[in-house]
Amino acid sequence: MCAAYLDNNATTMVAPEVREAILPFLGEEYGNPSSMHRLGGKSGLHMEQARQKIAAGLNCDPDEIIFTSCGTESDNTAIFSAIESQPEKRHLVTTRVEHPAVLNVAKHYERKGYDVTYLPVDSRGLFDLAQYRDALRPDTAIVSVMYANNESGVISPIEKMSMIAKERGILFHTDAVQAVGKLPIDLKKLPVDYLALSGHKIHAPKGVGALFLRRNAPFRPFMLGGHQEHGRRGGTENLPGIVGLGTAMELAVKHIDEENTRVRALRDRLEQGLMSAIPDAIVNGDREMRLPNTLSIAFKYIEGEAMLLMLDQFGICASSGSACTSGSLEPSHVLRAMGVPFTYAHGSLRFSLSIYNSDEDVDLVLRELPLIISRLREMSPFRRGDEGLDWVDEHHH
Ligand code: PLP
Repeated sequence: MCAAYLDNNATTMVAPEVREAILPFLGEEYGNPSSMHRLGGKSGLHMEQARQKIAAGLNCDPDEIIFTSCGTESDNTAIFSAIESQPEKRHLVTTRVEHPAVLNVAKHYERKGYDVTYLPVDSRGLFDLAQYRDALRPDTAIVSVMYANNESGVISPIEKMSMIAKERGILFHTDAVQAVGKLPIDLKKLPVDYLALSGHKIHAPKGVGALFLRRNAPFRPFMLGGHQEHGRRGGTENLPGIVGLGTAMELAVKHIDEENTRVRALRDRLEQGLMSAIPDAIVNGDREMRLPNTLSIAFKYIEGEAMLLMLDQFGICASSGSACTSGSLEPSHVLRAMGVPFTYAHGSLRFSLSIYNSDEDVDLVLRELPLIISRLREMSPFRRGDEGLDWVDEHHH
């Protein structure tokens, strides 16, 4: 069990209301939405109600919502659609700080001979809009920029960026996996063509996501199969997941003010407490243009993983700033893109809160982490002599 779960950007607890809503669909409501009989019809009805809830949460039309299996599938489908429907356009614009669900699609097309512009960020994780404008070309098939960064929490100027793309007639996708439920999103005002979201980041179960596809935006099915989702995504629908996602979206809308007041205040108290108790610490990412729940903080001279293991002994769950997927302890591509100095980047932690966190969770971290850090610093081999060592990024684009 976890005493303080502060890793909500990795995944979230299934909300009790969501679990409640799903249970019948693991029991008597097992009909296939495509079936003609009454059991199937009932499933179909519940699926459409879930679609309406998601559309209401984003202010779009229900038929602009396609259910998928995860955020990754939604991201892949959006970029694939834009590229495959405009074969004459051979250029993509994305950013150096995207999630692998976008970055690896860009790299895939790069290997196939496409030109890809990876927009850089400054030390606070912010984009330069003039540079963005300059990157757009007549042969740009799509721009894909995340709404908010999963590691730093930095929010992108999606409204401005999508407006600029629209003026040039270029399709725009945003990975809003970390933004939904934390920031209000109004798709009647935001001129994006595609938007990806994921259930397990908003207190629905894993294995369900959605793609917003604006009416008239080009589409190519990524999953080839049956006629489900109007032929846009084959495969019998994950009804328990879909029903859960609908309920989770309703709750997300209901809780968005709390997220931006109480959760933000908890995050700020955690940040201020750690910054005043621990010397040689910096906050990664712009402090204003940032998700209300996220704190990425770096401590000089220590390894993030060592801190995580020691925090875990107190039941505190958080993340480090390393590229854990590669099995190495290299600082993540996001911290490298921001140019976080080498001696800090290794000692980065990410705390990400949710409405299920309380003052006690913050108190626990504020009590234990300063002690953990002073103990680790006493043992640190980095302590002397490497002040000038800054991270040099080998992945220039
Ligand atoms: N995009 C961002 C910004 C994310 O944080 C994540 C999850 O970590 C994803 C995409 C992928 O979502 P999923 O795990 O649902 O595939």
